[in-house]
Amino acid sequence: MPAQPLEAVIFDVDGTLFDSERDGHRVAFNLAFTAMGLPDRWDVATYGRLVKITGGVQRLTRWFEASGHSVADAGRLAIETHRRKTTFIQDIVASGAIQPRKGAPELVHAIRAAGVPVHVATTGTRAWVEPLLASAFGGCFDVVMTGTEVADLKPSPLVYREVLLRAGCDPARTVAIEDSANGLISATGAGLRCILARNDYTREDATAGAIIVTDELYGPEVRTWFEHRLTMPGRSCG
Ligand SMILES: [Mg+2]
Repeated sequence: MPAQPLEAVIFDVDGTLFDSERDGHRVAFNLAFTAMGLPDRWDVATYGRLVKITGGVQRLTRWFEASGHSVADAGRLAIETHRRKTTFIQDIVASGAIQPRKGAPELVHAIRAAGVPVHVATTGTRAWVEPLLASAFGGCFDVVMTGTEVADLKPSPLVYREVLLRAGCDPARTVAIEDSANGLISATGAGLRCILARNDYTREDATAGAIIVTDELYGPEVRTWFEHRLTMPGRSCG
């Protein structure tokens, strides 16, 4: 029996559509520490541990608390550091330093060319998410939900539920693409199937519930899966 055609595909941003963590967000956090006159710095390995905490403010709060600041001080420092970090990441995005993940443009194009809409569910901040998406994908994405609009970040399923609601699509005929365990839990919690395309920072993440686990975003397994479910002739991405 042929596979049921897809109604929509929902993408995560950080680590899925873009290689944005190590050379984007990490650098922006370090610039923010410097601008604040703080001694803190996150090297690649340290950031690899911290990236499991979703949300920049939450990541910073936990870091400052673990560094010996009082809860009140940690919260205040986190909010101010994150405000500056958002400005730095906007500058980094504008500089073109953050590139799409290998295979991401081809995968998005193949889905759009079959007439299937693509959406975004991220817990990143809208101020940098929108220009980042525009830099590599133009106006490809129909519904873009970010951490600026939703109260609970991944692994809560809220951001995926909001995309499904706004796009009006059936979760049984939609698939999510994620790079991390937090994202996988979020997507499956919203009733979605999820392809887990892990990267260097998420290679050891738990995979329970993923329909495909791969290190390649658009490798042979993912390509074949989509070929069986993208059947409509269609439009191309403008
Ligand atoms: Mg991610």
